[in-house]
Amino acid sequence: MLTELDWILLSRNGYELFATLKILATQPDLFETAAEIGPTHSATADLCRRCWTYAGTSKYRAKPCCPICHNIQTYAKRFGVHAQDAIAIWGSVDMPAKECRNLADVLRRGSIVSCVHDDRHFLSMIFRRRLKTWIENILLYRPDMAGHLVIFPPRSNRYICTGDTMARILYAAPDYPTDRLWIYFYDKVFHLFSANRSNKQSVPIYDIGTFKGLLEAAAVFRSLLTPNIQEAVHELLHLKNNHEECFYWGRLLNLLKPEAVCMLEAWRFRHWPKSQLNLFFNLMNYVEYYSTDSDDSLSAGPANQ
Ligand SMILES: [Zn+2]
Repeated sequence: MLTELDWILLSRNGYELFATLKILATQPDLFETAAEIGPTHSATADLCRRCWTYAGTSKYRAKPCCPICHNIQTYAKRFGVHAQDAIAIWGSVDMPAKECRNLADVLRRGSIVSCVHDDRHFLSMIFRRRLKTWIENILLYRPDMAGHLVIFPPRSNRYICTGDTMARILYAAPDYPTDRLWIYFYDKVFHLFSANRSNKQSVPIYDIGTFKGLLEAAAVFRSLLTPNIQEAVHELLHLKNNHEECFYWGRLLNLLKPEAVCMLEAWRFRHWPKSQLNLFFNLMNYVEYYSTDSDDSLSAGPANQ
């Protein structure tokens, strides 16, 4: 019998992960009334071509597939597009036992689907622009939570499928500190595989308060500067010639609104380390835009752009 985690590890892409989590949350009976275990693996065995565990039923398609895999694939094909802009969060947390039962309620706020594996582990998918709101909810409702949250894009490519990414996270989990709540943020899947765990500098780890502060700063930056200015700032701060950078920085500040100039100078933005700048510009894809113009029709609230 495959467990919940086994089904999650079988996900080939984000659509299938979304479908698996959704079916685990809404139709848990489907997994309990599992189909019969298939025959021994051989060249002529009639096994499910996806899980290679249960007997394949050829009525579903040309390639035999078990009922569970058929449901997952059908759901992924029909509704997977809803998770196109989603990121996944694997949590391994430690909380007082009496509060564990409410974990699912907290996770449900702001996530499109969530699966609590046991008292200490969960997997959620959220829209990436809602990351800040989701983290604020965690800080608000579970400030005593300790452990780690691994944020990663549930995407696949020709070399790595989503199940491989999850397996890598589970493999690395014993190395993670658990004294408080830490965030591991991976903007690209291959960063997770290329991070050298013996070199602490290469592992993107942040205290949850620091990470939330960076998200807030990215939201302000995105709202005060237009996209072409953001791009100009990024290019300018990656110039190799320091004198050239200093010259163009002064010219750029003359083009900006006073509040934007104040923001950049107060943050000493030009002097940030390059690694922090790269993270900051990556985080811009994970925050919402808030209009700061009183005449703007979008000023009533956030808008996805
Ligand atoms: Zn199957």
